[in-house]
Amino acid sequence: MNLTLRILIGMSAGLVLGVSLQQLGFPLDGWVMVYGVNGLIDAGGTIFVNSLKLMVVPLVFVSLTCGAASLGDSGHMGRLGGKTLGLYLLTTALAVTLALSVALIVSPGEGAEPPEQPLSYVPSQPPSVKDTLIGIFPTNPVAAMAEGKMLQIIVFALLLGIAISRAGEGGARLKRFFDNVNEVLMKLITLLIQLAPYGVFCLMTKLFATVGWQEIYKLLGYFLTVAGTLVLHGAIVYPAFLVLLGRINPVTFFTKMREPMLVAFSTSSSGATLPVTLRTVEHKIGVSNEVAAFAVPLGATINMDGTAIMQGVATVFIAQFYGFDLAVGDYLTVILTATLASIGTAAVPGVGLIMLTMVLTQVGLPVEGIMLIIGVDRLLDMMRTAVNVAGDGMVATIVARSEGKLDLDVLNDPEAGRVIA
Ligand code: ASP
Repeated sequence: MNLTLRILIGMSAGLVLGVSLQQLGFPLDGWVMVYGVNGLIDAGGTIFVNSLKLMVVPLVFVSLTCGAASLGDSGHMGRLGGKTLGLYLLTTALAVTLALSVALIVSPGEGAEPPEQPLSYVPSQPPSVKDTLIGIFPTNPVAAMAEGKMLQIIVFALLLGIAISRAGEGGARLKRFFDNVNEVLMKLITLLIQLAPYGVFCLMTKLFATVGWQEIYKLLGYFLTVAGTLVLHGAIVYPAFLVLLGRINPVTFFTKMREPMLVAFSTSSSGATLPVTLRTVEHKIGVSNEVAAFAVPLGATINMDGTAIMQGVATVFIAQFYGFDLAVGDYLTVILTATLASIGTAAVPGVGLIMLTMVLTQVGLPVEGIMLIIGVDRLLDMMRTAVNVAGDGMVATIVARSEGKLDLDVLNDPEAGRVIA
């Protein structure tokens, strides 16, 4: 049985078990919840997520060093970086614009029910632009790796790769070493993602045993507007980009991207999904290592179209709820700030909501508004993370195509990179 099918079975089984457990109404302090759902099942899910995270730092470092060492002297690096960054920003800005348009048409905030608890929210301080910029450049590569600072690792790997490509015979030996380590790490991911069906089962069971349906029901308008816009973005904007810029069949692309999208959905973390995304983009879609190793980790760190969509809808929702009228200039500010906020959003669960503070503050909306939507964010986080990851894969694929670095034989081979158990 192929892995995607096994992951889907794990997800469905977790969903059914979780919903049943919630329906049966086990007390929170009873043994089923304490030792079962919040004990063993939670441990299973966490171990799975940890096993993916385990791969992120070594993989990004080694894989990008190899990529930069291959590109090194070719002079293509600047163009590749520019295209990738440009597409990431463009797709995110389009995502917020789409979200604002849909939200203004649907008006989910008008007549929404206020929550029972009084609204109070202490926003955390977002870092300043200057600090963010300085923070990209590492002072200590080991510390950057230990702390998982992705942009710093990317910068160090790029510099190291360029130096390797210019260091003659010694550099060539080192490049062979990195290439070999890269191969071994890819093999390790292939082994670890065999755990995905079990991990996903645990994550889904825990989630659906504890998710608050009443909260979602109360905010159904907001929930459906975000979910609908995510689907629109994935079903219209991405295919349009794939066809127009990449001359790539979107059905083939999305069929190949199923595994990372399912893992992203289950883990709510594009960071934890990164190893699976990278493996898929290289081995199933056929993007060359030079492009994938740069575009995918960069995308996981700065490209969050799904998050930006949530922020766009949430801004309109909160404005309508509190009766604020936003002017055209405010909407442009939202587009700009949400695009920047998506760059600053860490690729872990729930951070998109924290970064929403930045957007709300820019247009003078009350940050307490975040409390209104916090209860429904868990499920939306899963959906938007799947879109975030699809966006990373799409940009990597289009850039590779435009650079002649997409292997069409791999793309069109349904068996490429498939894991069969
Ligand atoms: N969970 C999202 C991600 O990892 C970030 C967010 O929107 O909170 O991509």
